[in-house]
Amino acid sequence: MTVQALPAQCDLLVVGSGAGALSAAVTAAHLGLQVVVVEKEPVLGGTTAWSGGWMWIPRNPLARAAGIDEDVEAVRRYLRHITGAHYDAARLEMFLAHGPQMVDFHLKHTALRFIDGNAIPDFHGRAPGARTGGRSVCAAPFDASVLGRDLQRLRPPRDILSFWGISIGGDLRHFLRSGRAFDSLRYVVGRVVRHMGQVLRHGQGTTRMAGNALAAALLKSALDKGVQFHTAHPAVGLLTETEGGRARVVGARIRTPQGERTIRATRGVVLGAGGFPHDPQRQRELFACTEHHSAACLGSTGDGLRMGESAGAQVDGTVAQPGAWAPVSLVPRLDGSVAHFPHLIERGKPGLIAVDRDGRRFVDEAGDYHSFMRALFARSAQKHPGQPVEAWLVCDHRFQRRYGLGHSKPFPLPIGWHLHTGYLQRADTLEGLARACGIDPQGLARQVAGYNVHAREGRDPQFHRGEVPYDRMQGDAEHDGPNPCVAPIERGPFYAVRVVPGSLGTFAGLRGDAHGRVLDAQGQAIAGLYAAGNDMASVMGGHYPSGGITLGPAMTFGYILAHHAAGRALPEPQPAAADSSTESLTAAAAAAATATVPSSSPTELA
Ligand SMILES: Cc1cc2nc3c(=O)[nH]c(=O)nc-3n(C[C@H](O)[C@H](O)[C@H](O)COP(=O)(O)OP(=O)(O)OC[C@H]3O[C@@H](n4cnc5c(N)ncnc54)[C@H](O)[C@@H]3O)c2cc1C
Repeated sequence: MTVQALPAQCDLLVVGSGAGALSAAVTAAHLGLQVVVVEKEPVLGGTTAWSGGWMWIPRNPLARAAGIDEDVEAVRRYLRHITGAHYDAARLEMFLAHGPQMVDFHLKHTALRFIDGNAIPDFHGRAPGARTGGRSVCAAPFDASVLGRDLQRLRPPRDILSFWGISIGGDLRHFLRSGRAFDSLRYVVGRVVRHMGQVLRHGQGTTRMAGNALAAALLKSALDKGVQFHTAHPAVGLLTETEGGRARVVGARIRTPQGERTIRATRGVVLGAGGFPHDPQRQRELFACTEHHSAACLGSTGDGLRMGESAGAQVDGTVAQPGAWAPVSLVPRLDGSVAHFPHLIERGKPGLIAVDRDGRRFVDEAGDYHSFMRALFARSAQKHPGQPVEAWLVCDHRFQRRYGLGHSKPFPLPIGWHLHTGYLQRADTLEGLARACGIDPQGLARQVAGYNVHAREGRDPQFHRGEVPYDRMQGDAEHDGPNPCVAPIERGPFYAVRVVPGSLGTFAGLRGDAHGRVLDAQGQAIAGLYAAGNDMASVMGGHYPSGGITLGPAMTFGYILAHHAAGRALPEPQPAAADSSTESLTAAAAAAATATVPSSSPTELA
């Protein structure tokens, strides 16, 4: 690890080190720019390094290689249906045209590899154009020991989402089944032994999965291409100059351990500071609820948005939802702090329901996290106005021991600490459980009895749990019953965990164009200012069509804006064999790609 002094000048200055920022940094360095990344925290990777690492990239090369060669019009139909009035044709066309190319770029030129999402369904399976797979990729596991001493600068996996510090990804299933299946137990023992060996050699586990693998591979690629990193160097303001009566961003002010310094950036500044998941003031302005517990990293306090505004940019508050909602539970830790655990996995397993304080269900619990929260917001506003927005996930002993509930893990791991802190509530009867939680006891008993009648037959006439592909993927394929998402809740003791509003990130961000440039109040690009990741307003208009719709666009627009900053035309998108609309897509994207490349810059293809 070489710690360099912040230079006085570079070509491209990148603020933050999540997916959007690092995608821009790696691509720009590949295109020949001298790139400097400044990161506020002591470690690199942002929330990206804690994420699932899934990127929604329809028509990606891995899907095509598997013979999934879908018509882009089906993707457009799906997006039009989900995003409605927020359909942003210009930006979405660029995303659809260059997302697959971004994946190709990494396969050819960087250390990042992918696993396919060919069996990962879209969130809204009933919508026209929805697919049951082939629209996403995830970062492949990465051996982070290749980072050498720079491993210390990579954000470790999130403690409450890992097992004993082991980075978990597609192998989560084995960790959850290890108490009851020998093949999984053998796998887990193998990983634990390897992990311990890595800790002895490198001070930490080096097999990185999911979002941590994404951050690690991007970091390695950036270092290989000569990108300079400065951790604990927050950007605190932009440097602007006036050019022909208009503001131009020419660099930034950085807080360094030696005091504030300025750095000039001849090709521009990229804001990639991760949106505003921990900016209480912006949340008060844009979020409907007062209480919010984001699972995103603490460094993202809205700095990028504020810096953008200082240069004349606007935050788009008109998006459908300002945040990527997820139910979280509040986990007390030994040191007295409270961790925010996002409930992304267990809600779809058979034998769990979510209820409000009346003991009533309000949603298909197996559906996606964003829809879960929207239903809870609606229910709370209708039935419990003025009261805290909260719900309880309720299950029986069999469920808790088989799948775990929130941060309380399945058999053979103990649950005593969670019972002691009150995180996990337990009672022999449903009425007792309801009283412990502050839920209406009769309401809960009635609800469970009614649910059980149909659940015994694997049905959920109330909310149709398990009837769409996404639900079934979240269920338990080994469940002994007709529906992988539905089982009765019958034998005590019963358990509950309280969930409250949280998020995986934010959707409201700076208004931008199809090249990742930030726009001013008149809709004109602010010269020298780009945004990537959640600092840019969601290309989905604040809707959540599928898992991976933040990282996919973050990676793609990082790639796109780097070409623009380098003055390089984007390569022509590859046509798909079965694509009836390829011509129009190719022409539109190619026209957009070349139209605004600075005339003073070379326009050769990368
Ligand atoms: C548990 C979990 C799972 C998720 N899984 C997925 C998934 O599978 N797919 C998906 O698409 N999304 C997922 N998300 C959401 C996704 O991780 C985030 O939306 C995404 O990582 C945001 O990326 P970003 O590029 O905006 O920046 P981030 O990764 O948030 O990084 C921003 C960085 O900027 C730094 N920074 C802030 N201010 C400054 C400053 N002033 N100067 C310098 N640096 C600064 C921060 O410290 C941080 O390191 C998940 C989120 C969570 C919490």
